[in-house]
Amino acid sequence: MKNHDLENSFKHLKNTIPLLLKHKIPAVPLNYALWYTYASKESESLNETLDDALQRNLPISDSKTKDLYRKHVADEQDIDTWDLRHSLESMVIELSQSVQDTRSETRNFKSTMDTCMDDLAKVEREGLSMEEVMDLVRTLVNQTKQIRGSTLSFSSALNDAEKEITRLRSQLEQSQQAALYDALTGLCNRRYFDEELAAHAMRPHMCLILVDLDNFKTINDTHGHVMGDLVLKACAKKLQVACREGAQAFRFGGEEFAIIVPNCKLNVARQIAETMRRAIEKIGVRDKRTSEVLGGISASFGVAEMKQGMNPLGLIQAADKHLYDAKNLGRNRVMPISN
Ligand code: GH3
Ligand code: MG
Ligand code: MG
Repeated sequence: MKNHDLENSFKHLKNTIPLLLKHKIPAVPLNYALWYTYASKESESLNETLDDALQRNLPISDSKTKDLYRKHVADEQDIDTWDLRHSLESMVIELSQSVQDTRSETRNFKSTMDTCMDDLAKVEREGLSMEEVMDLVRTLVNQTKQIRGSTLSFSSALNDAEKEITRLRSQLEQSQQAALYDALTGLCNRRYFDEELAAHAMRPHMCLILVDLDNFKTINDTHGHVMGDLVLKACAKKLQVACREGAQAFRFGGEEFAIIVPNCKLNVARQIAETMRRAIEKIGVRDKRTSEVLGGISASFGVAEMKQGMNPLGLIQAADKHLYDAKNLGRNRVMPISN
């Protein structure tokens, strides 16, 4: 938050309290900071976002408040730490890939060197050599042995580095658990989802879209976990871009995503899901090792609308049932077909 002079700060304070009362928002520090910033009109984008939510009669959950605080009120230093965490995650993925590449090259190098040594030993064995040639051969053998030795230790250092990367990654994932975002995809996480769904559940006409990538295990098995991760990131991006009508995308878990579509009828949510399905079909992810582009990615969608008397769990179960139907009918489709 910026510095304020005394007079202005009291003016904003006077405007903040009625806002909290009017919208029934508890006057805890985080809420207070957010709505104080709103009252001070310090951040145009924050005011636009909150005005939009108020106009649409959307609830503002604790997670949403934290998210808005982070985006519009938090010190730059806080945001830097956040961004750093994301960059670190990307670096870890890339580094892990290059370690894998280099290790396989190292293996090839070792086998070439082994053959080379055999050949040189043959020259020696078959007695083709004069004294000078023998000297040369011995030197070559010695050098080759040296290279082979350093290759082996390089390979073992790479092994250690990869272990360290795995450890760092799991540490990062643990620290991310307490936050609002999923480290891999950058989407809002499951904890955020649960809070948002509970907050929206009180409102009429809310829809939920559940998304499950098709045959994702095969993608991992065929192209490796690193490529699998890139596919997940690409899908998350497509889902986020396709969010309209106040929709919000979350990583539900594994290769599953959820989209909350507030104030919306089932047929509109189905159209949004259909747009998302088509966008995922168009994804092409380049495999850096082979330069091949991996396509043919698809996802199945289950859509449900909150009915009277339903609770959040009931809505998830209803969407999940349609998702199950979509899988059973051959995948890569949105269910139900009609209302
Ligand atoms: P279906 O079409 O029936 O959904 O088949 P599927 O293969 O997608 O489903 P299954 O549940 O058999 O496999 C899901 C796979 O997703 C297994 C798991 O290893 C993988 N997975 C989950 N989370 C991640 C992740 O963060 N990264 C990667 N690369 N894979 C993940
Ligand atoms: Mg699944
Ligand atoms: Mg799946």
